[in-house]
Amino acid sequence: MSNERKIIEINSAVLGKNDEIANENRRAFQQQRLLVLNLLSSPGSGKTTLLERTLKELGAKYHIGVIVGDLATERDAERLKKEGKNVAAITTGRTCHLDASMVRAAYHRLSLEGLSLLFIENVGNLICPASFDLGEDSRIVLLSVTEGEDKPLKYPVIFRLADLVIITKIDIAPALGCNLNELNANIRQVAPGADIISLSARSGEGFTQWLSYLGHRLVHK
Ligand code: MG
Ligand code: ZN
Repeated sequence: MSNERKIIEINSAVLGKNDEIANENRRAFQQQRLLVLNLLSSPGSGKTTLLERTLKELGAKYHIGVIVGDLATERDAERLKKEGKNVAAITTGRTCHLDASMVRAAYHRLSLEGLSLLFIENVGNLICPASFDLGEDSRIVLLSVTEGEDKPLKYPVIFRLADLVIITKIDIAPALGCNLNELNANIRQVAPGADIISLSARSGEGFTQWLSYLGHRLVHK
């Protein structure tokens, strides 16, 4: 067997096992009537900052849990614990994505009583997290204006699987000369079915749209 062939077979066995556990997770989440959103992006696109503000704004209204994956350190989890108590950290070491079994273990560390919304902050990486179903309802891909308008064209797979794309840090777009129309058009091209929301978690611009997206998803859960 060629090496390449061997690698493909190993990968599909790993992914098959992952899909099985992801389906178990999905059943557990459904029993709990839990809305589960998997957040994906490059490092530094603003996933943690988005979640900090979201917890601040919705934490009194909903019981929200967060699972935070990082290669090393629990710094993001510590930041989020200041805004909400129900946070479980996963330190993946050398693994550059979350898989369904890691999420299953972290889920059982959360307090589940009354939980209605669960965010999973994936490891910052636009490539292999796309291959790992975690049992989530939807995938949300974040893209900051600092990353260049052509990012969606370079990483089409992860965008294609997104239900929602969030353009972040729009408060600094003018200073960077980022062309938001071009960025929107590139997202549309690779993810024609995805919703797009532009916001800044720092200035709050566009944030209402994100909160109403969540409100709508929760009502229809
Ligand atoms: Mg983070
Ligand atoms: Zn990976």
